[in-house]
Amino acid sequence: MTDAAADMTDPAGPSTFFRGMRRGLAHRCPNCGEGKLYRRYLKVESFCGVCDHELAAYPADDGPAYFTILIVGHLIVAPLLLFPIIWQAPALVVLPLTLIPLTILTLTLLPRIKGAFIGVLWALGMRRAEDAPGGGRAEP
Ligand SMILES: [Zn+2]
Repeated sequence: MTDAAADMTDPAGPSTFFRGMRRGLAHRCPNCGEGKLYRRYLKVESFCGVCDHELAAYPADDGPAYFTILIVGHLIVAPLLLFPIIWQAPALVVLPLTLIPLTILTLTLLPRIKGAFIGVLWALGMRRAEDAPGGGRAEP
């Protein structure tokens, strides 16, 4: 039995929750764990190329950006401000040394967090309404 076939028979539960999150973190389809989640940087594939699961049906919206801001802003930037060198060194030194790595970190985390978010939505069965814009195969 394939992994995708096993998933379709699994009842929803904590293992499904973490499995979906883990597969999304790895940029994989939360349903089968093999197909690609993204077409481009943050553009989700409409359907999984392996199991044909409708990936565009999960309304991630602003959730991934919120969690990325939460992690980078609250867990990294706020503690960084406790170091006196941030305040004492010249701005021409501090700004490039902090903003460039923070930008790279943010852009690296965002697709992973979006994938994990979509994996959680998959585990919880939270899909976009059928008649909502953006649902279905007609979407480009
Ligand atoms: Zn799949």
